[in-house]
Amino acid sequence: MPGVVVVGAGIVGSSVAYHLARQGTSVTLLDQNPSSAMGVTGDSFAWIGGCGGDWPGGAQDLRGFVLEDWRRLETELPDVAVRWTGSLTWTDDQGEHDAPLGPGRLRVGRSDIAVLEPNLRHPPEQAIHTPSDGGVDPSAVTNALVDAARGHGATVIQNSVVTSLSVTGGRVEGVQSSTGFHAASTVVLAAGTGISQLCEPLPRDLPVAASPACLVRLTAPAGLVKAIVASPDFEVREVRDGDLLLTLPWTGGTAAISPEQAMRDAHHRLKAAFHGSNSCHLLGYRIGRRPMPAQGPAIGYIAQDRSVYVADMHAAVTLAPTVGRLVADELVTGKPSRELRSCRPDGPSR
Ligand SMILES: Cc1cc2nc3c(=O)[nH]c(=O)nc-3n(C[C@H](O)[C@H](O)[C@H](O)COP(=O)(O)OP(=O)(O)OC[C@H]3O[C@@H](n4cnc5c(N)ncnc54)[C@H](O)[C@@H]3O)c2cc1C
Repeated sequence: MPGVVVVGAGIVGSSVAYHLARQGTSVTLLDQNPSSAMGVTGDSFAWIGGCGGDWPGGAQDLRGFVLEDWRRLETELPDVAVRWTGSLTWTDDQGEHDAPLGPGRLRVGRSDIAVLEPNLRHPPEQAIHTPSDGGVDPSAVTNALVDAARGHGATVIQNSVVTSLSVTGGRVEGVQSSTGFHAASTVVLAAGTGISQLCEPLPRDLPVAASPACLVRLTAPAGLVKAIVASPDFEVREVRDGDLLLTLPWTGGTAAISPEQAMRDAHHRLKAAFHGSNSCHLLGYRIGRRPMPAQGPAIGYIAQDRSVYVADMHAAVTLAPTVGRLVADELVTGKPSRELRSCRPDGPSR
């Protein structure tokens, strides 16, 4: 009996493969790139938040598990280290000052902000502090998941471009790839923005938008930025001692300025925002294409005979440990997960 084939060694596919392999399931993880996390995962800001932000569609049902699953992963895998720094968020919108806050979020004033983020030159009058937020090095986590999956017996094949699902008598029996045919009891498509194309032979399609966002890397004095700082100008966090990640809203081809110019502007704004930032140096930028299924996370079987399963979502760094656990449980036990019922590619199930 063939095992499960997972297509895509981003953070989603790697988490699914790890959680399957640790339960003793036979797994083959395929990716077109020479190493894992070379899709959008490697270009992620990788802010893990269980409290604020948008939780479209079925993501709302998963948010309550996010922090617990990340803490579990930290205990299971020594190479997974979350920087539990908390976050500070503020906008220019005065109306937000009085908007109700959800649990786990605190409104803090200028003096508290100055303590939390002592290098800010001009702390705002108010901000939202979410102490439970954290961030990771997304490539390091993905590599740790792949290594651990391998340690539990998974086969990992890089440089394997999956060209199509292999359909015999109406049933998907595996995948065709540049490394040959790989037979599967179930194919899990965790190919991010590549999913729609792979779904083409199936009776139904899965539209996934590719939303561009810009990630800038800088070196900085260690500890210059303490928390995850989300200001109207940029979001910035320290990913490793002395290395900053900074994100910018990016409108792709319609932007009035080039990404190089946007990166230089952000660098200037960062220097204007923080004391001690003169020695910050730009390392470079990348425009990542974030997979965005229209209705929120699309997770579940996409073929009636259960031969193909999809796992595609935005904010997948935040969600990966929870989704990996729930998907693996569902595939291993055959019992539909209650928590995933609003994430189905066909719409919510009962
Ligand atoms: C600038 C930026 C900031 C972000 N900030 C955050 C954040 O703060 N928090 C958060 O949670 N998320 C954030 N995201 C989004 C997050 O990065 C993505 O949701 C997540 O990385 C998606 O992971 P994935 O595994 O689905 O996709 P990917 O990482 O793209 O993985 C898909 C994999 O499939 C492989 N693949 C595709 N097609 C094929 C094929 N035919 N054959 C073989 N392999 C194939 C690719 O090579 C790739 O490795 C951000 C993204 C960007 C760009």
